[in-house]
Amino acid sequence: MEGPKILVVEDEQEIRRFLRASLSHHGYRLVEADSGRDGLMQAGSQQPDLVILDLGLPDIDGMEVIRQLRSWSQMPIIVLSARGREAEKVNALDAGADDYLTKPFSVGELLARMRVALRHATQIGGEAGEPVFAIENLRVDLGRRQVFLSDQEVHLTPIEYRLLTTLIKHAGKVITHRQLLKEVWGPDSVLETQYLRVYMAQLRRKIEGDPARPRFLLTEPGIGYRLTAP
Ligand code: CA
Repeated sequence: MEGPKILVVEDEQEIRRFLRASLSHHGYRLVEADSGRDGLMQAGSQQPDLVILDLGLPDIDGMEVIRQLRSWSQMPIIVLSARGREAEKVNALDAGADDYLTKPFSVGELLARMRVALRHATQIGGEAGEPVFAIENLRVDLGRRQVFLSDQEVHLTPIEYRLLTTLIKHAGKVITHRQLLKEVWGPDSVLETQYLRVYMAQLRRKIEGDPARPRFLLTEPGIGYRLTAP
């Protein structure tokens, strides 16, 4: 069986070489582009299962590549970005990228993100997802709207529950503050990131053994949150 087809859009030859070696070693098929325009063309002609996109491209901006891709395709996009460019990552995620990696990154990290993104992609349009989300001692029964921690029922407020289920929907993927505010409080939400922090702290107190060292509800500094994937 052939592995998923991955399009790498990256102008740095060294990184392309590194990705080619490590991804083909893990059974992925690779298509490469060294510019934004070439990337868009290859995305159309090759129909890859996932795109790894560098945001700093020589011809068109990586953001523009995301926007153009999203105008016709839901293929998962993982962006590569330089350290310290949080605003860039947030914009990319809000524009429709699925996840990001900060350069330099490890192969293990990349493979994990790719697995999550590919899994989410196959779930779109498929079954309605698992009725029960479980990870370690946390169990969320989505049908009955009940949350258990080590078999003890945890009582969440409606907002806390919605916050948790929204994160479950995106489990393993990063979700920006803006996306969370929009999904939990509605598209017209004018709430600030600060509110989110308050609710997240409450939720952590209820479902994390040690809220100061969260295992499930992880903070992505300057960007948003990520719920650990089971
Ligand atoms: Ca670059």
